[in-house]
Amino acid sequence: MIKQNVKLQIEQPAWWLIFSGNQLLQVTNSPALPHRTAKQLDFVSEYFEQVIEVGHYQQSPCYMIDMGAEIAEQQIGEFFGLRDLLIESDQELFNIAARAWQVALFLRTHRYCGQCGHATQRIDWELAVQCPTCQHRCYPRISPCIIVAIRHNNKILLAQGRHHKNDMYSTLAGFVESGESLEQAVHREVMEEVGVEIHNLRYFNSQPWPFPHSLMMGYLADYKSGEIKVDGHEIIKADWFDFNNLPLTPAPYSIAGQLIQATIDQ
Ligand SMILES: [Zn+2]
Repeated sequence: MIKQNVKLQIEQPAWWLIFSGNQLLQVTNSPALPHRTAKQLDFVSEYFEQVIEVGHYQQSPCYMIDMGAEIAEQQIGEFFGLRDLLIESDQELFNIAARAWQVALFLRTHRYCGQCGHATQRIDWELAVQCPTCQHRCYPRISPCIIVAIRHNNKILLAQGRHHKNDMYSTLAGFVESGESLEQAVHREVMEEVGVEIHNLRYFNSQPWPFPHSLMMGYLADYKSGEIKVDGHEIIKADWFDFNNLPLTPAPYSIAGQLIQATIDQ
């Protein structure tokens, strides 16, 4: 799916994912990515050797170029954060952009071997880098994260994290620890963050989340016992909300939004 060492067809139109710093080149059209031939992108021509194909969208290939810290003079658009594209575009295109960003970030952060410190090399046949000295090989980092909606009769448990903006309440989430199953992670996170016991855990679905490389795995669960007691570190407020009287919650394109809707629909 992801291809390195792409032979560019210079006349063929493609979607371009061009990163500079932590921003993505976006245009004012919809969708917000440039759809051009390589010939029309002379400002990045020096990067054409490093192009990585990250998928297809509407019959055109999607190419990623990472300019690192460089800022190129160009006319076709402006650089914005990836989250802006999330709001502007459809899920399929956003997922491609998310994949491109994770690949760019992987290559930026694996230029040297973590075992012996030698410079790494990219491998041709799969997306990985390898150390020519000690053969240590690294793949893009994916961090499994659980996210869970907890129901109690006609109420849902929602919490406000330290980093939530605009008084937003969401479902609970957290990273899976080493040696832990997804289900164990759900029980542990819920207990740690709000002090509540749950049961009837049902897998819902998953969503890659490129901030920076999470794979969110969603669960629905029922309340079992305990009083809400927030941890005060990650979670600052939590409460049971009646389905008819919800606070501000995440948008439906996010897995948190979908979990909340699925809880109400049950
Ligand atoms: Zn090494």
